[in-house]
Amino acid sequence: MNRFEQFGLSPEILRGIHEMGFEEPSPIQDACIPAVLRGEDVIGQAQTGTGKTAAFGIPVLERVDPRQPVVQSIILAPTRELAIQVSDELRKIGRPKRVKTLPIYGGQSIGTQIKALKQGVHVVIGTPGRLLDHLRRGTLSTDHVEMVVLDEADEMLDMGFIDDIEAVFRHLPAQRQLLLFSATMPSPIRHLAQKYMRKPRYITVSRGEVTVPLIRQVYYRVLESTKVDALSRILDSEEVELGIIFCRTKKGVDELAEALQVRGYLAGGLHGDLAQPQRDRVMNAFRSGEIELLVATDVAARGIDVGSVSHVINYDIPQDVESYVHRIGRTGRAGKEGTAITLVTPREMKQLRTIEQETGVRLNPRELPSLEEVAARQQGTWMTQIEEVIREGSHSLFEEMAARLLEKFSPEKVVSAALSVAFSDRFAKFDSGYNFGETGAAPGMVRFFLNVGRNANLNPQELSKAISEHAGISPRQVGKINIYDRFSFVEVPEDVAPFVYEALRQSKINGSRINMEPARPRGKQESRA
Ligand code: ADP
Ligand code: MG
Repeated sequence: MNRFEQFGLSPEILRGIHEMGFEEPSPIQDACIPAVLRGEDVIGQAQTGTGKTAAFGIPVLERVDPRQPVVQSIILAPTRELAIQVSDELRKIGRPKRVKTLPIYGGQSIGTQIKALKQGVHVVIGTPGRLLDHLRRGTLSTDHVEMVVLDEADEMLDMGFIDDIEAVFRHLPAQRQLLLFSATMPSPIRHLAQKYMRKPRYITVSRGEVTVPLIRQVYYRVLESTKVDALSRILDSEEVELGIIFCRTKKGVDELAEALQVRGYLAGGLHGDLAQPQRDRVMNAFRSGEIELLVATDVAARGIDVGSVSHVINYDIPQDVESYVHRIGRTGRAGKEGTAITLVTPREMKQLRTIEQETGVRLNPRELPSLEEVAARQQGTWMTQIEEVIREGSHSLFEEMAARLLEKFSPEKVVSAALSVAFSDRFAKFDSGYNFGETGAAPGMVRFFLNVGRNANLNPQELSKAISEHAGISPRQVGKINIYDRFSFVEVPEDVAPFVYEALRQSKINGSRINMEPARPRGKQESRA
C-alpha cells in the first residue's frame, strides 16, 4: 500500500495520482490532504516546487461529484500561466474520474469562456479579475461551490489583487471550505485569513523538504564558447541512459541535436516548428530507445508524455523557477532516482542563485571531467586508430622521419611526442571570452579589486567564504587576500575568475553592496583608491 492509499481516496483518484507518476505524497501533501478531506479550512505554506497544487487539488477532486454538471470548486490563481498549469494538473489527476476543469483568465475572449462554462465544468481555476467579471455577469454560478482555494496567495497580493479577491469572496456561499496556499505568509495574508477563514489549520513545511528528494541536482560551470564540448564530457562521465536536454530556442535545439549526432550520440530534436509526423517519429524513437537524448524546448517538452528519464539537462539555464521545477520534474518520477544537471555560464551565475533561493534547494557544483580523464577514456579509441594504421601499412610516408627521430631519442619519447602532436587539438585551452588583462596576480591567478574593506567589517575568512558561496568554488581555491580600510584585493584561479567576477560584482557582502573589478598591477589602483 503506498502512502496515498492511506488517505482513503477513491480508486479513480488513486489511478489519476498513479498516472501522474507520484509515488509518495510530498510533506505538504502528507499534512494537508487529510485535514482538507475532513473539511477543515487550511492554510498551507511551503516553498515553490513542493507540490502545493496537488495538496489542495487531490482533496478537491476527491470531493467533486462528476455526475452534477455544476461548478463545485473555484480556485484563484495569480496569472494566466499558473491558472493553466493548475488546471492541467487537476485535469490529469481527475481524468479517470471524468472531472472537468477550466482555466479562465483575462486576455481570452469572454464569450468563449461563457460557452465553455455552460458545458458543465466542475472546477474553475481563474485569475481574480476575470473570475469577478463572470460572477458579476452571472455567467459563473456559485450556488454549488463548496471549496474555494487561494493559490499562490502571496503572489496575488503582490500583484494588487486584494480588492478583487475580497469582491470574489462576497459572491461566495456562506457555507464553504476555504483553503489558502502560499510560499510566504506576509501579514496582509494573515489578515485575509483571519477575516474569511473558520478556525484555519495552519500547516507549514520547512525549507529543505523538497517535493522530489530523489532528484540529485547539480550544476557545472561552463563557457558559452565551449558548451557543446562541456556537454559531451558530461554525457560521457555521467553515464546518461535516457535524458531530456533543454534548450532555450528552436534554433538552439536544431543546432545542438545536430552537433550531438555528429559526435556520435543518439540524439533527436523536438520543437514546435516540426510537423506532426516528424514529431511523432522523434517521440517514437525516444520511447523505443533508438534515441537516448531528446533535445527540446520547454514548450515542446510540455506536451509530451514519457515515463521517467534518468537525466534532465538544462543546456540553457531555465529563465524562471517555475520552468526549472517543471523541467527537473521529468526525472526522478515514480520513485526512480534522477539527476538534474544545469550548465551555467559566468553571466548566468546570478540566475542560478535565484533558482536556489526560490526553490530552497542548494545545487551542488561539479567539476567538468579533466582533460586527463577525457584522455584516459579516449585512450582505447586512439590506440585502435593507431593499430589500424599499422595493420593497413598506411604510415610509410613517415617511416624515414621515425628512423631519424629514433637515432636521437628513445622510442617512448618519440611515440608520445607524436601522439601529442596528433591529438593535441582535443586539449586546446579554451578562450573564456574574458580578458582581465594584467592584474598583478600570481601566475595562473587573476587579482580583483573590491570597493569595500574594513569599513564593511570585511575580513579574509568572510571574503573567501562569500566567494566560495557565490561562485560555487572551494574556499581553498581562493588565493591571496589583502584587506585595507576602504577596499580589498583578492586572487582567484584563472579558470574560475569569470564565474567569480559575474557572481560577485554588484552583489552584497555583510549587507554592503560591493563592486568588483579586475585589479591593475600594483601601485596604480592603490593610489586611485
Ligand atoms: P508548488 O505549487 O508548491 O510550487 P507544484 O504543485 O507546482 O509546486 O509542484 C511542483 C512539481 O512537483 C510539479 O511538476 C508536480 O507535478 C510535482 N509533484 C507534485 N507532487 C508530487 C509528488 N507527490 N511526487 C512527485 N512529484 C510531485
Ligand atoms: Mg503552486
